[in-house]
Amino acid sequence: MAESVELPSRLGILPFRNKVLLPGAIIRIRCTSPSSVKLVEQELWQREEKGLIGILPVRDTAETTTAIGPVVSQGIGSDSGERSSRVHVGASDSHRLDAKNQQENIHWHNRGVAARALHLSRGVEKPSGRVTYIIVLEGLCRFSVQELSTRGTYYTARISPLEMTKAKMEQVEQDPDFMTLSRQFKAAATELISVLEQKQKTGGKTKVLLETVPVHKLADIFVASFEISFEEQLSMLDSVDLKVRLSKATELVDRHLQSIRVAEKITQKVEGQLSKSQKEFLLRQQMRAIKEELGDNDDDEDDVAALERKMQSAGLPSNIWKHAQRELRMLKKMQPLQPGYNSSRVYLELLADLPWQKTSEEHELDLKAAKQHLDSDHYGLVKVKQRIIEYLAVRKLKPDARGPVLCFVGPPGVGKTSLASSIATALGRKFVRISLGGVKDEADIRGHRRTYIGSMPGRLIEGLKRVAVCNPVMLLDEIDKTGSDVRGDPASALLEVLDPEQNKTFNDHYLNVPFDLSKVVFVATANRLQPIPPPLLDRMEVIELPGYTPEEKLKIATRHLIPRVLDQHGLSSEFLQIPEAMVKLVIQRYTREAGVRNLERNLAALARAAAVRVAEQEQAVPLSKDVHQLASPLLENRLAEGGEVEMEIIPMAVNNHEISNEFRIASPLVVDEAMLEKVLGPPRFDDREAAERVATPGVSVGLVWTAFGGEVQFVEATAMVGKGDMHLTGQLGDVIKESAQIALTWVRTRAMDLKLAASEGINLLEGRDIHIHFPAGAVPKDGPSAGVTLVTALVSLFSQKRVRADTAMTGEMTLRGLVLPVGGVKDKILAAHRCGIKRVILPQRNLKDLVEVPAAVLADLEILLAKRMEDVLEQAFEGGCPWRQHSKL
Ligand code: ADP
Repeated sequence: MAESVELPSRLGILPFRNKVLLPGAIIRIRCTSPSSVKLVEQELWQREEKGLIGILPVRDTAETTTAIGPVVSQGIGSDSGERSSRVHVGASDSHRLDAKNQQENIHWHNRGVAARALHLSRGVEKPSGRVTYIIVLEGLCRFSVQELSTRGTYYTARISPLEMTKAKMEQVEQDPDFMTLSRQFKAAATELISVLEQKQKTGGKTKVLLETVPVHKLADIFVASFEISFEEQLSMLDSVDLKVRLSKATELVDRHLQSIRVAEKITQKVEGQLSKSQKEFLLRQQMRAIKEELGDNDDDEDDVAALERKMQSAGLPSNIWKHAQRELRMLKKMQPLQPGYNSSRVYLELLADLPWQKTSEEHELDLKAAKQHLDSDHYGLVKVKQRIIEYLAVRKLKPDARGPVLCFVGPPGVGKTSLASSIATALGRKFVRISLGGVKDEADIRGHRRTYIGSMPGRLIEGLKRVAVCNPVMLLDEIDKTGSDVRGDPASALLEVLDPEQNKTFNDHYLNVPFDLSKVVFVATANRLQPIPPPLLDRMEVIELPGYTPEEKLKIATRHLIPRVLDQHGLSSEFLQIPEAMVKLVIQRYTREAGVRNLERNLAALARAAAVRVAEQEQAVPLSKDVHQLASPLLENRLAEGGEVEMEIIPMAVNNHEISNEFRIASPLVVDEAMLEKVLGPPRFDDREAAERVATPGVSVGLVWTAFGGEVQFVEATAMVGKGDMHLTGQLGDVIKESAQIALTWVRTRAMDLKLAASEGINLLEGRDIHIHFPAGAVPKDGPSAGVTLVTALVSLFSQKRVRADTAMTGEMTLRGLVLPVGGVKDKILAAHRCGIKRVILPQRNLKDLVEVPAAVLADLEILLAKRMEDVLEQAFEGGCPWRQHSKL
């Protein structure tokens, strides 16, 4: 702290350019110019006692005056009345000063401050070797310059001190004006200190200054710490009068206080504005940190941005794009963990994924190629293929024609699905299959509203998302298997789908915006026509595929199935041969079906077994020479391990030529009967089955119709001691139960004529119960067409005559014994043919249905037409109706 010091009459002068050092201020400077280095060296560094130097402000000026050399200007705002004269240093001396000073007009202030060095350090710059000093200086007291001269390269000045004597000081302190001023200053200073302390949270150390340091010195110390202009600094330096000094200092402190307050206000305002967004930012940062900690760092923001980009490129129609944007805005406002966020995102993903505009490029339809394609994929089915070609031809002529929806109806495995996919290939479109089997809920077609938890779009929209084009061929598979219950009627939803007027704006409940289905080509399949609701059937054009004859199956097997199966298993005909006779056996004994699906399965089983057989025989069978060059390590292992090979590890991708090359055996493996039995097990069906089953009286052979096509159905009747009741078993529906009642009634009424009873009035059921059973008891059965079969079984039972094993029958019977026509004749005849039945009894009125039956089948069968029940019985028994035999007797 500056205390009163004795000033020498002459001081070395360090000029401060545009800067003032006030008493009480401490400053650190670096002296580099030769003159200042010299000054420091001589006045401070080389002195033993602590030296003093004078700091004199100089003013830069742009003016160039004629006068060369330093000029000492009069103090600014000088209040003391002292007149400091301009001191011209003789031009003769000036040549020794810095070159800079020689060129410039330097305005020296006539008042300065004596300063002492608190710290001095000397440095030598490398490589120039220039000496520099760093000094920490403390301002002590004011002086005025009497005369300025030079000593070597630096200035010195003759000075006189400006500080008051002690006596004068005491006198001033008594001055009431001074006292008021000093109070004002202290008050302002105290306030400033407390504001600063509050801001910087410093302890109350500065306040101690106020108590201990004389007020006039305090004024300098305070002002020295402010950033004020050079003019203001000079004016403070010139305030030698204590009252003037105090009032100036008070003014500056006040100004400083005000500027602090204004700055504070501004910061508060800005902080207020920022705080909301800052808070959000902070929270987000925290959330990110938490996520990272949990290892859940998928960046949702990026995801949402990606989703938005995806939506932009999805080609949404404008109204739907607006809807999607609304939804997206909502999503952006949500937090990922918020309920509804996920469902909203999944929904938007669907909107982005759906093919609103995307189509597969439709190439020019080549009917010839389409026909060839159909022919190469499917054997037979001439009419069906013809109809498909017609359909394609119409599409070619009028691409946007709203043609009918094709519906392939037939038993499983007859090629419905593969025909539909051939249509897609012919049109060059993508193919998607929607399975409707077992769909009972309307929401399966139309989707659930998004208000439901776990809601989903319907199968159609889901299928379109999967196929990713808006013009695929869409197969509505098993359209007859949709049912309706309390959850709505899927068929009515399908009506909308198939109606060209309505499907332009198909409304899926989940999607909640219309989707245009008009570009989709619909094809449907069904096993049966009856369950399809008439309005739906009305929108479709039915093409029936009745099922194949054994001959057709044989052709399909040899031309299509066997090559495909061999290829799928990496084999070839060089390696495995399935002779036609064996295929026939498979058809007859292992697959009694209308289609060829099981046939294909059985052939695949043979191929698999053959592959294993080769691997097993590998050591015993002479392999070709090139076996040792096996390329595949997998195959090498197999050879090394000998027979320990599982067929599943046969690499499916290995092409058949490779396998057959690697495992070439001396002669191809030919499937024989023994192999059939070994691989497929004992025959499942037997031509002698009917004969064995009808070996006892009371059994007759019927023909029924199921979803799998026609089938042979045996009816068994037996009698036992009882009270004349009739028992029926075999999962029978009401209609078939009634048929049984009718049959029994008719037999009882005609008992005499049929010679079942010796005389009129005898009760056939006297003392006995009748039990009628329909084997395959687990399969539900219903329908009226078993009427004639039931009567035949009962007549056989009562007459104890066996029915013919080669004869099957179908027909509804009235109470009076008339035989009424039934449905599914073609399928039933095909089934009989498959089972080796030779004769079929049909209602007379079903004659017209025979045109649908393939001629090859009819050629094999004897069709017997019946008008009345007696006609049936006549044909059903060996040697004619039992009563005739009786009458003959
Ligand atoms: P569906 O849809 O009628 O149940 P699929 O179309 O699935 O039957 O056919 C079953 C298998 O039988 C398929 O591999 C198919 O290629 C084959 N298939 C059916 N009919 C024929 C045919 N006429 N010619 C060649 N392969 C056929």
